[in-house]
Amino acid sequence: MSLACLADYHTHTPLCRHAEGWPVELARAAAGRGLGELGFSDHNPMPAPFDDWRMLIGELPRYIEAVAEARAKFPALNIKLGLECDFIAGQEKWIEQLAGMAEWDYLIGSVHYLPDGWEVDNPKYLSRHSGAGTEEIWRSYWRTYEQCIRSGLFDFVGHPDLPKKFGFRPQGDLRRYYDGAIAALAETGTPYEINTAGLRKDCAEQYPAFEFIQLAQSAGVPVLVSSDAHSPAEVGAGFEEAVALARAAGCTHTLRFTRRQRSSVALA
Ligand code: ZN
Ligand code: FE
Ligand code: FE
Ligand code: ZN
Repeated sequence: MSLACLADYHTHTPLCRHAEGWPVELARAAAGRGLGELGFSDHNPMPAPFDDWRMLIGELPRYIEAVAEARAKFPALNIKLGLECDFIAGQEKWIEQLAGMAEWDYLIGSVHYLPDGWEVDNPKYLSRHSGAGTEEIWRSYWRTYEQCIRSGLFDFVGHPDLPKKFGFRPQGDLRRYYDGAIAALAETGTPYEINTAGLRKDCAEQYPAFEFIQLAQSAGVPVLVSSDAHSPAEVGAGFEEAVALARAAGCTHTLRFTRRQRSSVALA
């Protein structure tokens, strides 16, 4: 299938210290794969050094410059400037400040940090996910995810069911977790992404699960497809599969963002 109707808006750069490939190299990969647009969304800086997997605030100009360089080298590809922002309750003011620091095309809201201050997707804490921990992690994560959606700070939200990354899921019907988030998406008109990185993780499935996609579609929530590429080889990865799922759920359109204004594009 042609990927020309699609944009890959969730990609990273070496400034986050755990990705390879500068914007120019990712742009070359995106052009090679025939994507319509490419957007960069590296992990947002914090006001002071915070953890070891994001750019420092002083590196923001270099990030913007690297994206501009890719734009100059690949004028035929629409290249967008974004950030993947960590939603952390109490830090909303910082996100508002960041929003004014560049001409962002979009800001993605993601939850990696649980309220007790550790990252749900960090292999360092893998052992916490098994046994009785699973249920508690999912409860805490989805509560935070709903807050992230309702904050109104973001143009769309990232990898909805991230806590399944290592393959641990609570027993039974998982709609008890999805429902609150889908209601929040529908009520606030916030889009979410189908993120193909999960296909490359132990959970071996895109984020979110197909059932979430179906429920979101029934609720009229707009959707995007993204790779969460941390290397050029991952740009547009799994897009055929993700689009097939979106279509199977009844989705007919996806979104583009320019300077935080969205427009709808038909899935070819
Ligand atoms: Zn990352
Ligand atoms: Fe993320
Ligand atoms: Fe990411
Ligand atoms: Zn991500």
